[in-house]
Amino acid sequence: MPRKFFVGGNWKRNGTRDTISKIVEEFNKGPSVADADVEVVIGVPFVYADFTQEKLRKDWKLSVQNCWIGKGGAFTGEVSAEMIKDAGIPWVILGHSERRHLPELKESDETVAIKVAYALANGLKVMACIGELLEEREKGQTQAVNERQLKAIAAKLKEEDWKNVVIAYEPVWAIGTGKVATPEQAQEVHEQVRAWVASNVSPSVAAEVRILYGGSVTAKNSVELAGKPDVDGFLVGGASLKPEFLDIVAAYK
Ligand code: PEP
Repeated sequence: MPRKFFVGGNWKRNGTRDTISKIVEEFNKGPSVADADVEVVIGVPFVYADFTQEKLRKDWKLSVQNCWIGKGGAFTGEVSAEMIKDAGIPWVILGHSERRHLPELKESDETVAIKVAYALANGLKVMACIGELLEEREKGQTQAVNERQLKAIAAKLKEEDWKNVVIAYEPVWAIGTGKVATPEQAQEVHEQVRAWVASNVSPSVAAEVRILYGGSVTAKNSVELAGKPDVDGFLVGGASLKPEFLDIVAAYK
């Protein structure tokens, strides 16, 4: 079965009711993807999830950007997977490099893995992010870092869980920097990731799991990246706040 192209947007901590209304109005003008070979999911800040859900076209789906791992109760300020599910939001982005590396957050591989497993167990779908820092790439550790992050996640999942996971490879040095990985660099890593999944999860999961590239994707660079055999879509930050996101959605064609 061919892998359906997947384009995720990550609005991060951006947006107001006003700017969201405007960009959603632009997005809603784009062609329907209901019967197209592409799936589109927008990752919004919690506080604007309902607002966006009401306005956004129904052939695109919603995601949030984090979730908590305990049912109800004494976790002041947190939003649990159960609440996200109850609010009718199907997706969550987990393990984003900002949450892994910002000194105030510092989510470990283990924390990310616990979140991924908990979200899946509570009926959410997960965009699970992995990726190396610049100094790790420079030391030749790219593959080792990605495999370490993946291993932590895989250790907590059952084989059937993977049908609700997309992997987003996001080299940290390319996120928000304008320095995009070349199509060859992306393909090299995506191939390694798929091979790791084949050996450590199963060949059928490896054949089916979508591996997205994220890091300074634009309308301009998306077509060439999308042409690589193991690039099954994108996770897009900055450009997901602009009308050009529609062109990135169309890059699968
Ligand atoms: C991201 O936030 O996941 C991301 C890839 O950002 P950008 O596209 O802005 O580099």
